[in-house]
Amino acid sequence: MALYVHKYGGTSVGTVEKIEGVADKLKKFKDAGHDVVVAVSAMSGETNRLIGLANAISDQPIPREMDVLVSTGEQVTIALLSMALQKRGVPARSYTGSQVMILTDSAHMKARIQDIDTDNIRADLDEGRIVIVAGFQGCDAEGNITTLGRGGSDTTGVALAAALKADECHIYTDVDGVYTTDPRVVDKAKRMDKITFEEMLEMASLGSKVLQIRSVEFAGKYKVPLRVLHSSKEGNGTLITTEEGSSVEQPVISGIAFNRDEAKLTVMGVPDIPGVASKILGPVGAANIEVDMIVQNVAADKTTDFTFTVNRVDYAKAEEVLTKVAKDLGAREVAGANDIAKVSLVGVGMRSHAGVASKMFDVLAQENINIQIISTSEIKISVVVDEKYLELAVRALHTAFDLDDDKES
Ligand code: ASP
Ligand code: MG
Repeated sequence: MALYVHKYGGTSVGTVEKIEGVADKLKKFKDAGHDVVVAVSAMSGETNRLIGLANAISDQPIPREMDVLVSTGEQVTIALLSMALQKRGVPARSYTGSQVMILTDSAHMKARIQDIDTDNIRADLDEGRIVIVAGFQGCDAEGNITTLGRGGSDTTGVALAAALKADECHIYTDVDGVYTTDPRVVDKAKRMDKITFEEMLEMASLGSKVLQIRSVEFAGKYKVPLRVLHSSKEGNGTLITTEEGSSVEQPVISGIAFNRDEAKLTVMGVPDIPGVASKILGPVGAANIEVDMIVQNVAADKTTDFTFTVNRVDYAKAEEVLTKVAKDLGAREVAGANDIAKVSLVGVGMRSHAGVASKMFDVLAQENINIQIISTSEIKISVVVDEKYLELAVRALHTAFDLDDDKES
């Protein structure tokens, strides 16, 4: 007998029929003798609908009231799921975040969980109930309703699993696991049986949007084994754990992430003196623009070209900031491009294998794809290429690093 926390996303509870399907699934776990605590999202589209209502009244809705509003979506699904379970003779009880007492800070719309009171949940489990908790929401010390940011129900699930020391946290969604890359780009992408938290964080932050990033950080920190599964198809999904495979079975590369929302900017001919990097990036940060890759190298003439990437939506703003900075610094000019994309190889196996980078560059060279920027970390190599070569690059690398699913389909 085990204790599981299940999280069902919006598409998994998107209709009454689907909610009944979730109840059937939960009943099976209960009948097998397991304890189950469930976190649910709002029905798909509901959170967006609620935000739309607020935006119809104000283009800057008050954050506290936004949380009162958007938290209602999850209150609907917990009640319906509890009814569906009880109709099947399964004892169940639903709770909002403040009823459980999921204590958060007061940062409305992006609150962080500080503590979860598990006493009531445990008492219900002891009584043989399935406990259903509204995802995405909590309550601050003053009793204000808070929410955890879009996609926050994943974090609720993981936080409940950590607080209850659950055996596993299952995230049920509309895909059957985490793939080596986006199957829409590479039809031979395959589902991974296992991936480490570190790798998942890289895959998630690089654009594979299966899990809310914060939930993966949380799971890694508290070592909660996390499994991503399809809510209506059978299968083992993908397990996200701390364990790395033995070096024999560990693939060198676990997956390929990519991101199209990139733009790059270069300040050319910057004098090579101390303080320049901070003079360039200070104003960029002050304008609330997040910087990703940064590259700088000194030329023989004692000037340097300073290049960095930003999210594409910030491109125009960044260019404006830089044009001013460049003038103040006496730099030659500012150049940039927003038709670029980033491709990253991710894998803990890289730690024990040399030559991954050179193989990557070789594969890209064979396809005649020019690399504009390179950056590396212990478990990741990223390159920036022209956006029009993105798909070609991802496919070629997927094949070269033996990630293709060769099963006949
Ligand atoms: N309903 C919230 C959202 O759409 C939370 C979630 O689905 O995880 O962002
Ligand atoms: Mg969701």
